[in-house]
Amino acid sequence: MGRNVKRVHVDFDWFEKTSKDGGWAENWKGYIMDEIECPLCDGTGITTSGTQCPVCYGEGKTNPRIEPPKGYDFEKTDGYQVWQDVSEGSPISPVFLKPEDLAKWMVDNDTSITQGTSYKAWLKMIKEEGGAPSMVSMGDGMKSGTSLYEDDANVGLDEGGQNG
Ligand SMILES: [Zn+2]
Repeated sequence: MGRNVKRVHVDFDWFEKTSKDGGWAENWKGYIMDEIECPLCDGTGITTSGTQCPVCYGEGKTNPRIEPPKGYDFEKTDGYQVWQDVSEGSPISPVFLKPEDLAKWMVDNDTSITQGTSYKAWLKMIKEEGGAPSMVSMGDGMKSGTSLYEDDANVGLDEGGQNG
């Protein structure tokens, strides 16, 4: 199971709406769509000026994605939201303006496979924004991707580091 952190407009209320309606019947339409022929290079992988197509990276095909709405004044209006990217992508948290608030919410409310992930690990993941890899092979088994973030203490939390 992958987790992505997206920057979306703070008023993006998809999560609130669907969870209040008692289910997850509807998914954000734009998140996962079928692969199409690249619209920029018409599937050739090369632009008219002869360089590699920047949309499909020369593949000729691309996965269109309609991202959730962003605000014009990005830094002021856009919050953080955790999404899952399995089969149908969907938000699994409300939108929070501060990474710290989102990390706290995830610790308190997460009942999915990433339950038990620490505040520190969430905060690191949210701040780095790349999201956790889907699954990582750890030799004798599979571990949830967010566990990768557990080991690294460098999260930006100032804990003083004083040892008596
Ligand atoms: Zn292309």
